[in-house]
Amino acid sequence: MSASRHPALSATDPELASFVAAEETLQAETLRLIPSENYVSAAVLEASGTVLQNKYSEGYPGRRYYEGQQNIDRVEALAVERAKGLFGVEHANVQPYSGSPANLAVYLAFAKPGDTVMGMALPMGGHLTHGWGVSATGSWFRGVQYGVRPGTGLIDYDAVRDQALAERPKIIFCGGTALPRTIDFAAFASIAEEAGSVLVADVAHIAGLIAGGAHPSPAGHVDVISTTTHKTLRGPRGAMLMCREEHAKAIDKAVFPGLQGGPHNQTTAGIAVALHEAAQPAFVSYAHAVVANAKALAQALLERGFDLVSGGTDNHLILIDLTGKDVPGKVAAKALDRAGIVVNYNTVPFDTRKPFDPSGIRIGTPSLTSRGLSTEHMPQVADWIARAVDAAAKADESALAVVRAEVTALMSAFPAPGLPLS
Ligand SMILES: *Cc1c(COP(=O)(O)O)cnc(C)c1O
Repeated sequence: MSASRHPALSATDPELASFVAAEETLQAETLRLIPSENYVSAAVLEASGTVLQNKYSEGYPGRRYYEGQQNIDRVEALAVERAKGLFGVEHANVQPYSGSPANLAVYLAFAKPGDTVMGMALPMGGHLTHGWGVSATGSWFRGVQYGVRPGTGLIDYDAVRDQALAERPKIIFCGGTALPRTIDFAAFASIAEEAGSVLVADVAHIAGLIAGGAHPSPAGHVDVISTTTHKTLRGPRGAMLMCREEHAKAIDKAVFPGLQGGPHNQTTAGIAVALHEAAQPAFVSYAHAVVANAKALAQALLERGFDLVSGGTDNHLILIDLTGKDVPGKVAAKALDRAGIVVNYNTVPFDTRKPFDPSGIRIGTPSLTSRGLSTEHMPQVADWIARAVDAAAKADESALAVVRAEVTALMSAFPAPGLPLS
C-alpha cells in the first residue's frame, strides 16, 4: 500500500514509509473527534509537498534578502491577497510558522517584557500563549487571566471589563482552545478601548467557521486577528496574522526579522490553496455543516446523560464534563482511543483534578464533517461515546472492541484525501 502511494519514500526509507502508511490507515479507520484537527484536501496536500520547499526567501514579496524569488513572490502575494479577501482585512502576514509563534510575534509588536497582558486562563479554555504561567508569554510578561462564570460556563464580560480597567493590560487576547460558545468580539472591543489595550482575536479554532459565515467575524472589531491555518480552516500547519494597515509594519517586523528566519514556502503555497478552497460555496456549506453536526452531537449526548460545559455548543466544539461519571477524562480518552474514537482529555472550568489527569474530554466535528458525516450520523456517534465511556468504567475491553469494529465499518464508507481505501 505504501509502496504505490509514496514510491520514492518506500524505496529509500521503508521503515519511515511504514510509519506513514500506518498513520494513513489509522486516520482512515478511526473517528477523529479532536476539534483542532482536520483532513486537508488533496490539493493542499500536494501544494505542501512541492519544490517550493527548496527555496530561502527571508523578507517579503518584492523585498527579499535572497535572489531567485520570481515564483515565490507570486505564491506569497497570492496567499496574502486571498487572506485579505476572505477575512475582509487590510493586511495579512502568512509567514508565522504556527499559532504559537504568531502569538509571540504579537507580543513582540505591542509589548515589552514585564508588561501586563490579559487572556483567558488555560483551564477555563484559553491558550498557553495568552499569558499562562508555563508559557514564555506568562514568564516574560505579567499575565492576568479571566475565566468563565461558575454554573453557566460562559464568559462574564462585566468581570472581564472590571479586571481590564484595574490592570490596564497592554494586550488583551480573546479566543481559546476549549470554548464551545460564540465570542462577542464587539463586547471585547469596547472593553479594550476603555482599558487602552491592543485587542487580539485568536481565532485559531474557528477561522474556518468565520470564513464560511458560521461564526461572527472579528474583522472591524479587533486590532489583530491571529489564526492557525490547520484547524477548521483546513489548510496546512501554519498561521496568519491579520490587521488594519496602521499595524501592518509592526506585525511584519515582529514576524521577520523579529522572530523568524525564512518562511516555509511550501506551507505558504498550501495556505494559498486552502484560502482559495475556503472562498468557494462548498466551504460555506462545510462550515455550517460542522456547526449543525456539533449541535446534533451535543443534543444526542445530552439525551444520553452527559454533562456538557455551558450546556451545549454554538460552534464545532463540545466539552464533556465527566465529573458525574465513574471515569476521569484521561481514562475515558484512552478507552475511546481503543474503541477507534480519537479525542483529547481536557480540563473543565473549575476542575478539581490536575491538568494531566482532568475531568473532561474535548471533542469536535471538523474532521468527521470533512469526511461527509451528517446530522443523521450524530446519534450513532453519541451512542458509541456513551458505550465506550460505560465500558471504560467497567473495564470491559470486549465492549470497546465491538465499538471499534462498528466505527471502522462506518468510516470505510467515508474516504478522505490521501488515505487508503479499505
Ligand atoms: C491551536 C491554537 C494555538 C497554537 O497553535 P500551534 O500551531 O499549535 O502553535 C494558539 N491559539 C489558539 C487559540 C489555538 O487554539
